[in-house]
Amino acid sequence: MKKLNKNTTDKGKTTLNELVNENIIKNDNPALLPKPEEAAINNDLLDKELVKVQNELKKSFEKYLKLFDNSTVGYITLDKRGVIQSCNNFACDLLGRGKHNLIGTYFSQFISDSTSFIFFDTLKQCISSMSVRDCKINIENSARQNYNLLVSVIPNTLQGEDNIENLLVLQNITDQVQAEVKLSKLQEEIDTVVQSKTMELLKRIESLEEANKKLEESGRIKSQFLTNMSHELRTPMVGILGFSELIISESKNPDIKEMASLIHSGGTRLLETLNLILDFTKVESEKISLVNEKCDIKLIAMEIVNTFSSTVQKKNLKMKFIAEGNNFYALIDPRLFKQVINNLVNNAIKYTNEGEISVTLLSDSEFITLKVKDTGIGIPENKIGIIFDEFRQASEGLNRHFGGAGLGLTLAKRFIELMGGRISVESVEGEGSTFTVFIPTVLESVDESSKNVVVPKRALIVEDDEISYSLLKNIVEELCPADIATNLEDALNKVGINTYDFIIMDINLGSEDTGIDVTREIRLLESYKNIPVIAVTAYAMKGDKNLFLESGLDAYVSKPFTRSDLLKTINNCLKEKTK
Ligand code: ADP
Repeated sequence: MKKLNKNTTDKGKTTLNELVNENIIKNDNPALLPKPEEAAINNDLLDKELVKVQNELKKSFEKYLKLFDNSTVGYITLDKRGVIQSCNNFACDLLGRGKHNLIGTYFSQFISDSTSFIFFDTLKQCISSMSVRDCKINIENSARQNYNLLVSVIPNTLQGEDNIENLLVLQNITDQVQAEVKLSKLQEEIDTVVQSKTMELLKRIESLEEANKKLEESGRIKSQFLTNMSHELRTPMVGILGFSELIISESKNPDIKEMASLIHSGGTRLLETLNLILDFTKVESEKISLVNEKCDIKLIAMEIVNTFSSTVQKKNLKMKFIAEGNNFYALIDPRLFKQVINNLVNNAIKYTNEGEISVTLLSDSEFITLKVKDTGIGIPENKIGIIFDEFRQASEGLNRHFGGAGLGLTLAKRFIELMGGRISVESVEGEGSTFTVFIPTVLESVDESSKNVVVPKRALIVEDDEISYSLLKNIVEELCPADIATNLEDALNKVGINTYDFIIMDINLGSEDTGIDVTREIRLLESYKNIPVIAVTAYAMKGDKNLFLESGLDAYVSKPFTRSDLLKTINNCLKEKTK
């Protein structure tokens, strides 16, 4: 460009020949040189081209100047001392001064003390590495406005290493920094709240754990109380029921017989209510454990129906028992299942004044269906939904017509469901009700009852309560003579001298040694390893049966018991041992 200017004609134009002559364009072949008239035309063309390029250059420079000045990013060039050489409008706005007041001043005057060190350090690194570096700084401009800037420092070498200029690209990140500050304040606040809430939660967990401990403790006390109550209430019932039964069968005096039977039926009702409440408490605290056995439901149902024959006669009702099908075996807890059928038949009789009660059994490969149907008072439609709820009765309040705790059906439903079955009711008020129980069938097995009955020669009764042992002796002596032992020492003495075919064992002997301890000692004797020991006890709570069986006892009869209960259990044990 410089050369071109030097060789321009007075019109400001340069000819091609002049360029060649000046060695700007090399041409060693004179034949290639244009003829003078051609050269004149070429020079003209060249001039035009040159003007065009200069114009385009100017336009492009103006375009980039516009972009430079109107950018939303600040641009500043600093010489190696840090003095501003040039800047765009945005940089002027940020620094709060016009271009001519900025150029020639130090950029560092605007940087806050707290960030100037960062800026100079970045500048140093940028120069030593000759690469772009970023830093965040804070400035206070001439109008006393504060901004946070993200500065990119770009090094630029001018004619040798000594002469370095730095191009600064400034981005206003004030809003972003303020947002970050707000965010971190918010984060701090959240942290504080979370911390205090966590503390609160921990305290709550602590107090919940404390409450839970108390609850467990009160649950344990409640369960202990129930065990004791069960024992205390059942024990006197042994005498009341047992001796009234004895008086009924032995007495010749009809008045005394009548009084004894009133005592017996009152005692039975009391015992039923007690059993219902205890069972309900066990179900509620989920402490009831089923002892499932494969049982013939037809036998159980027949047995229950028979026990009601005299009640049915007294009320002038008819009672039918029908069984259709071959296999009536199911996996059930016999004690609880008997309780269910007993409750259904008892209710059918209780709520029927005339007509008929029918108990029907049907069986197929899947289910045994037991229907208890009556022609009694029926249940109003709006009460059908509540009769399976605890303590609810169709007739409630002061004018209720029938006695009862309102627990029988609640327990029946829970028991049947625990055994894998279900119970439902259909009823029409004034016409009668049908309760239906479905229970899954299992395959038929050999009838164990066909085995021979074993006749025992002598028995031992270990019992400390006088009423109980007199009654037990009276019943056991239907089978064979019986001796009494009231404590561990006495019992060990007697088994050492005599040979017993079975032993009846009370669990609470009123001393430190329980019936379980006595059984353990007796089992140590070789000749008593296989002799049936039957627990007869008022401890009828919390899966006691399993505990007794695990401790070496063979069977369990809960107090108060009926004569037939005890005799049947003794016979079953004797049969079992001679297998
Ligand atoms: P309870 O008979 O002791 O009151 P249940 O739980 O056995 O308690 O029965 C709940 C209620 O269901 C009874 O009070 C009675 O109103 C109604 N009920 C049960 N069985 C029958 C029935 N066979 N006929 C009419 N009502 C019945």
